[in-house]
Amino acid sequence: MIVVYADHDLGILDPLSLQAVTAAKALDADVQVLVVGADGRSTADELGAHGATVVHLAVHDALTDYTPLAAARAAQQLVTELSPQAVISAGTPRGNEVLAHLGALLDAPMSADTVSITLSASGDHEVVRNRWGGNLLETAIVHAPVLLATIAPHTVTAVESPESVTMREFTPALDPIDTAVRVIDRTGGGGGGIGLADARVIVSGGRGVGSAEGFESLDQLAELLGGAVGCSRVVTSAGWRPHSEQVGQTGTKVAPDLYIACGISGATQHIAGCRSAKTIIAINTDKDAPIMGFAHYAVIGDLHSVMPALVEATRAAKG
Ligand SMILES: Cc1cc2nc3c(=O)[nH]c(=O)nc-3n(C[C@H](O)[C@H](O)[C@H](O)COP(=O)(O)OP(=O)(O)OC[C@H]3O[C@@H](n4cnc5c(N)ncnc54)[C@H](O)[C@@H]3O)c2cc1C
Repeated sequence: MIVVYADHDLGILDPLSLQAVTAAKALDADVQVLVVGADGRSTADELGAHGATVVHLAVHDALTDYTPLAAARAAQQLVTELSPQAVISAGTPRGNEVLAHLGALLDAPMSADTVSITLSASGDHEVVRNRWGGNLLETAIVHAPVLLATIAPHTVTAVESPESVTMREFTPALDPIDTAVRVIDRTGGGGGGIGLADARVIVSGGRGVGSAEGFESLDQLAELLGGAVGCSRVVTSAGWRPHSEQVGQTGTKVAPDLYIACGISGATQHIAGCRSAKTIIAINTDKDAPIMGFAHYAVIGDLHSVMPALVEATRAAKG
């Protein structure tokens, strides 16, 4: 049996958690899911549709929002109770954080950014995982009675595999220290737009955009195409856009149908976040920029004239 830690944000299931459920389902028919916080009750149907047999809902007065160590404590209690072969989570910042805490609590190793798993009854589990931002695949043997692993985003496609799921609520035993780090307030962001992780179209800008104001045409095109705006780390470091929009190794890993990279050179760390896009269009003045090695189509030109023209053409095409 496998336990999956499924993340949610105020009751909205993280879609990457469904990829983790599918990855777990490929290893064992019995996939039981840990969801933390009473808000997560709403996730049960979707988890059942993807193959969860049981949803264990950890409910506690202190669990009002994301609380990583408490989530790990709840997972530790499930491990003790259920003795799963593995605990799996999506390889998101939150999934990695919770499983790293769980590893510390269990004094067990954790495999992050994992692309494939072969479980072994002897406890010598084989994992293949991304290293160097996905430029290298490492095969490793993890010696542990229970394998802890996070699944690299978008290496698995979430598929439905309906089960008649049951929900079981439990109250984890928490120490005060377990809730010392938690979300207590939210400011800015969360404006209700399409999130990067779910967007089918992403219009992304890099240093070539030149300024915060330069993003106006990117915002317009994203809105016209029903997509989201992304950016490179140079852009977030300059304060032109928030970190939540950063694509890459230290940002969000995305897999849209269309990724339009405007004034982005295509550094390894950026490509690590967008290489799963189905189609990449690069708009760049430099025909030799590394992004050209990944782009399916390229426009060699100044984005400050290409983008407004693209916005106009898209507007005209939409009538
Ligand atoms: C540990 C580590 C983690 C990192 N994580 C990330 C990450 O998660 N995401 C990330 O993006 N980066 C990350 N980086 C940074 C990364 O190495 C690059 O520095 C960064 O991606 C470059 O951003 P850029 O492409 O916007 O800028 P540049 O590399 O400076 O490229 C700008 C591009 O714009 C083009 N250009 C300029 N003017 C125009 C114009 N008018 N019209 C069209 N094109 C134009 C240029 O030809 C150039 O190709 C990380 C680095 C490290 C060391």
